Amino acid sequence: MKQLHKALFLTTMLFATGIASAASGQTETYDPEVRLAELGIELPEPPSPVANYVNGVQTGNLIFLAGKGPLRPDGTEIHGKLGADLTIKEGYEAARLTAINQLAVLKAMLGDLSRVVRIVKVLGMVNSDPDFVEQPAVINGFSDLIVEVFGERGKHARAAVGMATLPRGQAVEIELVVEVSLESTVRTGPGGEPLEMTYFGTAGWRISDGNVVVLVDPYISRLKYGNGGHSDDDRPHFAREDLAWSDTTLIDSLITEADFILCTHSHFDHLADVPYIARKTGAKVISHETANTILRAYGVPDEQLYTVRGGEDYQFEDFSVRVVPGLHSALNEKLYYDSRRYDEASNLEAPLRINQFIEGGTLNFLARFDRHTVLAMGGMNFIEREFEGLEPDILLAGINGSRLGLYDYDRRLLTATGSPPVVLPTHWDNFRYPYGFSQQANIERNVLPFIEAARTISPGTTVIMPVHLEPIKIH
Ligand SMILES: [Zn+2]
Repeated sequence: MKQLHKALFLTTMLFATGIASAASGQTETYDPEVRLAELGIELPEPPSPVANYVNGVQTGNLIFLAGKGPLRPDGTEIHGKLGADLTIKEGYEAARLTAINQLAVLKAMLGDLSRVVRIVKVLGMVNSDPDFVEQPAVINGFSDLIVEVFGERGKHARAAVGMATLPRGQAVEIELVVEVSLESTVRTGPGGEPLEMTYFGTAGWRISDGNVVVLVDPYISRLKYGNGGHSDDDRPHFAREDLAWSDTTLIDSLITEADFILCTHSHFDHLADVPYIARKTGAKVISHETANTILRAYGVPDEQLYTVRGGEDYQFEDFSVRVVPGLHSALNEKLYYDSRRYDEASNLEAPLRINQFIEGGTLNFLARFDRHTVLAMGGMNFIEREFEGLEPDILLAGINGSRLGLYDYDRRLLTATGSPPVVLPTHWDNFRYPYGFSQQANIERNVLPFIEAARTISPGTTVIMPVHLEPIKIH
C-alpha cells in the first residue's frame, strides 16, 4: 500500500509540467525526485542524529548537512578500511549509499528536492589504511549519484580525504553544503496560476491565487511577551496587563492589500494586529462575535465584519469559505478553559490590554480557491467529525508541543482530512521572537517529529516546513 501510494504520487509528478526554475532562470525540466524514481531509488527514513546535534542547519539560503555514513535501510552500516578491508568498488558503493541518506535528510528538510538550487561543497572522509591514496575514486560514488540526480546543479566543489578512523568503523563519512531556493514549488494539480502561500509565523498566512488575497490570523508584531522573549531582543517587554501594541511600520512593509481576513479566535497572537490591518486594507473579516466585538471597538466598520458561529458556507465573488467549528489548543496541560465571550453589551474600549484578547471560541476555515482548497487551523486541536469529508488539498496543520496532550493527534488529523497532498505546519514557531531570529529549537521540537510521523501515516503527503515571509507556490 505504501509502495502504491508513493508510485501514484510520483506518477502524478511525472505528468505534471516541469518546474520553471525561477531561481536560476534555466528552462530545462528540473525534477530531482523524478530522476530518483527513474534511477529506482526510494529514499529511506532520514537517519536520526546519535547525540546532541541535528541533521542539518539552514541559515539564509544555505543548508549545512551534518556528516552521514553508509547506513543501510536495515540499520546496519558498511564498515571497514579502504586499502585493507574494502575494495575501491565497495568504498564507491558506500559513498553512493551515503548520498542516498543525505538526500533523505534534504527531502525531510525541504519537502521537495526541486528546491535545491546547487550542491555547493562536499567534504568526503574515507576510512583509510595509511598507504591508501585513492580517496577521490571512493567519494566519486557520492558525487556521481548527486550529479545523476541534480544534473548541472549537482556539480560541486569537493575535498576527499583519508582518515585514520571513523565513528563505529564506518567506511566513509560525508558532509555537504547545499544552496536552496527560498521559494518552494509543489504541484497538486494541472497547470495554471499557482496558489501563493506566505507564512507570517504564529498561525498567520497570506494566501493568494492571483484573484483574491486572503489572510489567516495575521499576527506580525511578535511582541516580546511574558517570559518567552529572546535575550538578544532589545525591544520593550510586554506583560499580560499591558496595552496591546501593533508594529504598524512592520505591518506596512509586509501587508499592502487584503480582500478577506479569516480569524480563528481572538487571542492577541491571532487578532491583535487585525484592527490595524482591517482598517488599512478594508478587508472583510470573518470571525466570531467576540473577535468582531473587539474589532468594532477599534473602529472597524460594521460592513467589514461577517460574524459567524461555525457551519456557515459562504460564496463570495472569487472564492468560498466554509466555517468549521473547532476547539482551542489544550493549553496549560489541558487545564485551560475560557468560557468568556464579548457581545454588543460588553462596552470595550480600545486599545485593549493583552489579557482582554480572550479566545471567544475557536473556528477553522475551509477556503476554496479557483483550483485549491485550503483547510486553515489556528491551533493544535480539532473536532474529528467536523474535518471528516472536507478533503482539502492543502492543510495548515497546527503543530506545536501542546498537540502531544491529545490522543493520537497526528494520525487522527491526517486521516480525518483524507491525507492531504500538501501539509504546511503552522503555529510551531516562538511568536515572541522577531523575524530573523533562529527558530531552530522549535523546528527540532515541533516540526521534524511531525514530518517523521507524517511519512509513516500518510506517505503520499508532502510536508513543507514554511520559512517566515518566504512564499511557497503550489501548482
Ligand atoms: Zn489561542
